[in-house]
Amino acid sequence: MYRSCPLCEATCGVAIELDGNKVVSVRGDDADPFSKGYICPKGTALADLHEDPDRLRRPMRREGSTWTEMAWEEAFDLVGTKLNNIRRAYGRDSIAVYQGNPTAHNLGLLTYGQLLLRSLGTKNIYSATSLDQLPHMLAALQMFGNQLLMPVPDLDRTDLMICLGANPLASNGSIMTAPDMRARLKAIRDRGGQVIVLDPRRTETAEKADRHLFIRPGTDAVFLLAMANAIFADGVPPTRVPLTGVDELRTAASTWTPERAAPITGIAAADIRELARKLASTPRAVLYGRIGVCTQEFGGLAAWLCYALNALTGHLDEPGGLMFTTPAVDPVPLAAMLGFDGGFARWKSRVSGKPEFGGELPMTALAEEIETPGNGEEKIQIRALITSAGNPVLSAPGGPRLEKAFGTLDFMVSIDPYLNETTRLANVILPPTSVLERSHYDVALNAFAVRNVAKYSPPTFERSADTRHDWEICLALWRRVGLPNRLGPGAKLIEKLASSLGPEAVIDAGLRTGPYGMFRGGLSIAKLRKNPHGIDLGALEPRLPARLNTKDKRVHLAPAIYLADLARLDARMGRATQGLVLIGRRHLRSNNSWMHNSERLVKGPDRCTVMMHPTDAAARSLTDGAVARVSTKTGAIELSVEVTDTMMPGVVSVPHGWGHTRKGSRLRVAESVPGVSVNDIVDPSLIDELSGTSALTGQPVEVRAK
Ligand code: SF4
Repeated sequence: MYRSCPLCEATCGVAIELDGNKVVSVRGDDADPFSKGYICPKGTALADLHEDPDRLRRPMRREGSTWTEMAWEEAFDLVGTKLNNIRRAYGRDSIAVYQGNPTAHNLGLLTYGQLLLRSLGTKNIYSATSLDQLPHMLAALQMFGNQLLMPVPDLDRTDLMICLGANPLASNGSIMTAPDMRARLKAIRDRGGQVIVLDPRRTETAEKADRHLFIRPGTDAVFLLAMANAIFADGVPPTRVPLTGVDELRTAASTWTPERAAPITGIAAADIRELARKLASTPRAVLYGRIGVCTQEFGGLAAWLCYALNALTGHLDEPGGLMFTTPAVDPVPLAAMLGFDGGFARWKSRVSGKPEFGGELPMTALAEEIETPGNGEEKIQIRALITSAGNPVLSAPGGPRLEKAFGTLDFMVSIDPYLNETTRLANVILPPTSVLERSHYDVALNAFAVRNVAKYSPPTFERSADTRHDWEICLALWRRVGLPNRLGPGAKLIEKLASSLGPEAVIDAGLRTGPYGMFRGGLSIAKLRKNPHGIDLGALEPRLPARLNTKDKRVHLAPAIYLADLARLDARMGRATQGLVLIGRRHLRSNNSWMHNSERLVKGPDRCTVMMHPTDAAARSLTDGAVARVSTKTGAIELSVEVTDTMMPGVVSVPHGWGHTRKGSRLRVAESVPGVSVNDIVDPSLIDELSGTSALTGQPVEVRAK
């Protein structure tokens, strides 16, 4: 059997050998035109996840601390009744939704899940977006006219990749779908190009790069403004792409000379100038910024400047630069059809006035919206929560506060295969089928792939009669939460269509009406079934200005929201941060907390350690392997120290997703290697005030011997 691995953004093809109902082996599919046989260790663990005895198969209901199985229809009826009662009593906004990041890898949740969640009519929708890529999406909306129009590095043709706050050798790429990152980065160097990494840690990617420079966490916007300053000083190269706002960007960057930026960022002025010159003068070059750029106090500015510098230097929409894809299923119209609308700050959160983005509120607003009493119809407190594919108690800042808040809800339902640190607080868990039991098409990730590709994966195993797919669960709830009744006379037909079609029909329609489907023999699910290894649709091609959604069909280089935020940067950078600051880190064998329930993914030395530079460790009398207490004003955790000169002095690193110590979870392997949750100490009130994204990077911490 051949299929795509849905565990991370790389979308590798896997070949699965079966013996009846047992997986004998999982290996890379050599015939997959995109991944060409590559898989990472997570791919081989697909079978573990499918066969995991801790994975729930049937609905569970909690009474006190006792869980009992229940029948599907009974569970759907119970959830429908509870949600309808709460909505009737308190209003639509009393029901909140949280969606975890596996949603992006799940066809059922991306289609029927959105139909359910967006049609609840609540303003209280939350997701991992505000802990991750929101600033990139905001920049896409502001500059290109649609939040899904995020350009990706044309990795296979670039001769210079400047990589900022990203570690693709561990993450396998993000908003840059590209299997076998190691080979692709090596190929840049083999053809005489360069990879330059800026990061507060000498990461796995930095170790393989031509050059690594430490950058102080949270100062990326300053570094990028200084780059812009240097580029303007040297003279801006001509660009084919129509731009507005060049003069405004020049003015914005005018005070941020490399000399001013150097002591703030930790990068010498001469190095900033050299990087600026390289970017401007290399015909095929790209500046790529990712998670470290987004999740900080100035993530909005930094993400904007990443795109702006590529555009300014003529590397937007050009081969080897930052390019727009031509996906076989265009997510832009699909998202609009499913109610996933674009927009920013059209309303604010009730308690602390945080801005909405794409119809969602920032995660940092969720706990207070549950805790704070309402005040009449217009000011509704959250009373019920639906979580889907997420574990925010471990993955969102202020985990203990969220945990406490969830415990006060009138009702909570989780669509999730595990009894984890979050879902143990639910009243009902509705577990979907495993990754190997469902069909797959990477509708989201193909839109960010470094080549245009399409692949359909049929289920490896048929689901048994007493299990349900995500989309079936969402459809059942959609029917019961009353939405069909509100659709008017066409409701019955819509309901019938939704019930009989399924997500594959949505994708089939998207393929047939997409850019490769209009002609005889064009793409369809049937054609993809005949090509089980996937189809290569070619290298990325220039798409501008046609692809732009801006009214004037120009790239907006200097949107007003960013220019207005510069004063905040100016004021903040005038106050130096004293002491140590925190960053996260990613490991190749981990992506989501449930992956810690696979023996093969957690074996080996303890990975949940605090990394720190030898001088910082010595100053605190800490040695390698000692137990340290890491604290913020939010809390304290204790974990082993890893002394390493891969860390920038003044910066410590702790990974997230660990802390499998909460009573009542059922993750037996994870509980045997629990680690601690860094989100117990990450201060949820520290955010990028522009976008509402959590500032996970650059938080001040204290470290001392236990
Ligand atoms: S790199 Fe990602 S998609 Fe590829 S095998 Fe690993 S987890 Fe799966």
